[in-house]
Amino acid sequence: MNKQLQKFDVAICGGGMIGITAACLFARQGLRTALIDQNALAQWNPKTVSARVSALNIASINLFKSLDVWESISNKRISCYTDMVVWEDGSNASISFDAASLSRPYLGCIIENCAIVDSIAEKLNHNYHFQKFEDTALLNIEHTDTGPILQLDNGSTLNCKLLIGADGARSRVRELSNIDTEFFDYGQDAIVTTVTLAQSHRATAWQAFLPTGPVALLPLENGHCSLIWSCDRKHAETLLNLNEKEFCTTLSAIFESQPGCITACQPPAHFPLRQHHAEHYISTNTALIGDAAHITHPLAGLGANIGFMDAASLSQVVESAADRHLNISRRSVLRRYERWRKGENSLVLNTMKGFKELFGSSSPTSKTARQTGIRIVNHMPPLKNPVARYAMGIAGDLPENCKAIYSN
Ligand SMILES: Cc1cc2nc3c(=O)[nH]c(=O)nc-3n(C[C@H](O)[C@H](O)[C@H](O)COP(=O)(O)OP(=O)(O)OC[C@H]3O[C@@H](n4cnc5c(N)ncnc54)[C@H](O)[C@@H]3O)c2cc1C
Repeated sequence: MNKQLQKFDVAICGGGMIGITAACLFARQGLRTALIDQNALAQWNPKTVSARVSALNIASINLFKSLDVWESISNKRISCYTDMVVWEDGSNASISFDAASLSRPYLGCIIENCAIVDSIAEKLNHNYHFQKFEDTALLNIEHTDTGPILQLDNGSTLNCKLLIGADGARSRVRELSNIDTEFFDYGQDAIVTTVTLAQSHRATAWQAFLPTGPVALLPLENGHCSLIWSCDRKHAETLLNLNEKEFCTTLSAIFESQPGCITACQPPAHFPLRQHHAEHYISTNTALIGDAAHITHPLAGLGANIGFMDAASLSQVVESAADRHLNISRRSVLRRYERWRKGENSLVLNTMKGFKELFGSSSPTSKTARQTGIRIVNHMPPLKNPVARYAMGIAGDLPENCKAIYSN
C-alpha cells in the first residue's frame, strides 16, 4: 500500500539510546523530526532490572539535564559511583580514581539503557514537532532534489532534508550510503548479567584485567552489580556452560580480595566484541551517529557516551546553520560535524585497541613493563587525572549542551 509522502526536516533511522537522544535535540530546535525503528521503542520495567546498562559520564549527564530528562531518568533505577579501581589479575599493580580528587560528587552513573530511551520517549510524546514510526524498518533511500525519500516496510514514504543513521552496528543507512568501515575483531565475547555481592560494592566500579580479557563489576542499587566479562570466545563458551553456583565460584576467585565474593547471578547473555569505524560519517544529505559510525570495546564504558556526543555535536552544527539561514544538510555543515567527531572518536577507538594489545600479551617483559607503568601512573596525578577527566567527559572538545553549566 502506498501511503502519502510525509515531509520532515530531519529523519532519524534507529530509536536506540543515541537515535532518540538526537530526536529530542532536533525536535527541541523546532525542526520537524521523524524517528524510525524496526522494533517498538524500549520500555523500562520497574519490576525487572535489565542486564543492559551503561556507565554514563558527566558530559552525557549534562546533556540529559539540558534536555530536561535527567530527573525522569534518575527517578528510575540509578547508581552513581565515586571510585574506580583497575588492576591486573595476579599482581598487586593497580590504579584507582576517585571523584573527590577531581572535585566532583561522582565519576559517573550506571543506568539501564531502556530507562534512558523510555524517559526521552515520554518527553517526546509532548513535542508537537516529533513523530515516531515504530515497528517498521527502513528499506530504501532515493536521493531527490527535495532531499532523501525513505521507503519503510509498512508502505510509508518520508521526505526529509537531513537523514541521520543511528541504526547501530549493521546500519542500513550506512550500507545504502556505500560507506565502508574499518573492522577489527577482538576475538572476544562480552558476558553480561546482574550479580549479588556478599559485601557492599562501596559505590566503586571494579575492573580486573585477566590474560583472557577484562572483567568489570559496576555498582547497582541494593548491593547488586552489573557484570561485564569480556573474554576469548572459547573461554566464554566454557563460562556460559557453568551452572549458577560454578559461575559465582569462578567469578568470586577474581574478586574475593576486593570487593568480595559473589553469592548469586542472573542467567547471563553474551555479545561478540568487534570494533568498527566508518570511513566517513557523512554522505549526501546524510550523517551517521552512535554505533552506526563506531563501535568500541566496552572496557572503558565509552561507546554510548561518545554516541551521545555525536548527537549533541551534530545538533549544534545544524542549529548554527539554521540560525544563519543555511541549508541544514549542506556538505560544509555536515563536514564540520564529521571533522569534529571523527578525530575525537578515533582517539577513543585507538586507545581501546591499544589496551587490548597491551593487556593481551603474556610475555614476561610486557607484564613487567605494564605493571611498572600502572604503578607509576597511579602515583602521578598529573598523568592520571587528565585521562580520568577525559573519560569522565569533563575535558575534550565538548558540545555546548554537555558542558558543566548543567552540572548542578
Ligand atoms: C556489553 C556491553 C557493555 C557496554 N557498556 C557501556 C557503558 O558502560 N557505557 C557506554 O557508554 N557504552 C557502553 N556500551 C556501548 C553501548 O551499549 C552502545 O554504544 C550503544 O547502545 C549504541 O546505541 P545506538 O543507539 O547507537 O545503537 P543501537 O542500540 O544498536 O540502536 C540501533 C537501533 O536501530 C534500529 N534499527 C536497525 N536497523 C534498522 C532499520 N533498517 N530500520 C529501522 N530501525 C533500525 C534497531 O532496532 C535499534 O533500536 C556497551 C556495549 C556492550 C556490548
